[in-house]
Amino acid sequence: MNLELPEQPAWMALGLCSQTDPELFFPDRGGPNHDAKRVCSGCPVQTACREHALAHETRGAGGWGIWGGMTYEERQRELRRRGRGGRPGRQRKDTAA
Ligand code: SF4
Repeated sequence: MNLELPEQPAWMALGLCSQTDPELFFPDRGGPNHDAKRVCSGCPVQTACREHALAHETRGAGGWGIWGGMTYEERQRELRRRGRGGRPGRQRKDTAA
């Protein structure tokens, strides 16, 4: 059997997460994410990573985990802000009518 894996974008090799514990980037839902976000904040490819995640989120490839310093919920909010869908989120208490 010849399985061809999709080619990874070149920027992925430069991501600081490749030198870090990958578990940091996939905490349990609602688990701590500040360590991953701190790594992302110093990553030279943060913008490319974030845009990749946002571009693939609607197709479900981003899925979960911290990408480009954003959680799944933050990416969904950003997609809604950009008018590109995103799953309906819970209404925040401070914006509830
Ligand atoms: S921004 Fe974060 S998740 Fe993306 S490549 Fe860099 S360290 Fe990894």
